Amino acid sequence: MSSVAELLAQARRDDLEDAPLILAHVLEKDRSWLFAWPEHELTLAQQQRYLQLLHRRLQGEPLAYLIGEKEFWSLNLEVTPAVLIPRPETEQLVELALTLDLPEEIPVLELGTGSGAIAIALSREKPGWRITATDTSSAALAIAQRNATRHQAANVDFIQGHWYQALSDSRKYRLILSNPPYVMADDPHLQEDGLPWEPPEALAAGSDGLDDLRTVIREAPGYLLPGGWLLVEHGFNQGKAVRDLFDRAGFMQATTRQDLGGQDRVTLGCYPPCP
Ligand code: GLN
Repeated sequence: MSSVAELLAQARRDDLEDAPLILAHVLEKDRSWLFAWPEHELTLAQQQRYLQLLHRRLQGEPLAYLIGEKEFWSLNLEVTPAVLIPRPETEQLVELALTLDLPEEIPVLELGTGSGAIAIALSREKPGWRITATDTSSAALAIAQRNATRHQAANVDFIQGHWYQALSDSRKYRLILSNPPYVMADDPHLQEDGLPWEPPEALAAGSDGLDDLRTVIREAPGYLLPGGWLLVEHGFNQGKAVRDLFDRAGFMQATTRQDLGGQDRVTLGCYPPCP
């Protein structure tokens, strides 16, 4: 049998960066508990579970799926392989929506919510917004709903369906956001960095990666109030193509913003008449 201190020392020797988080997860404690109780002995079952998870991590499975959670916008969200793991760069989509200076009580639509990350982050910041969040996957929506309950995001309604087909009435929105799949289907990146464990339908979108962005952008005018905004996340090399799609759909002021790494990542535009 091993103690917490012994397992952590071993993990350090093996350079296993995520080991403390995996150990804390197995013991159902937080990380700081490990350092407060170094002498604590694991049961045999706990030790086996820890080694099993560590092994899976070494095979490339993302930490978030192993421990079942990921932090986004300072919120701890449940994640499973049914949903894309929320990325730090997607926080920028949330930030940008907040800088638009929109009124406190507006209808907002998020397409392809996955774990619910974007909708729930917005709900925390804007409790007056009436947010509708869709996903084509009911397994994803079940997780999003649990995350909304966990974070008391009472102003979010989840509905199932493929992009705009989820919407059954003719309601229009002041703001539509989406982080759709945008990776090219044959991008070798899909075989790296834990991506093989994520839902392919949340990552890849046709030969140029723009299949879903085309649908989301082209159909947005039918669902936006005059002066409404569309914000989408996209790949680092898709800024120009996405701005062209905005222009062709009749948007004004299509602008692309960079992520913290300096890469094109989010494009936004206003549907006329614009301020
Ligand atoms: N940013 C993700 C990646 O390339 C892709 C997310 C997405 O397709 N929406 O790892």
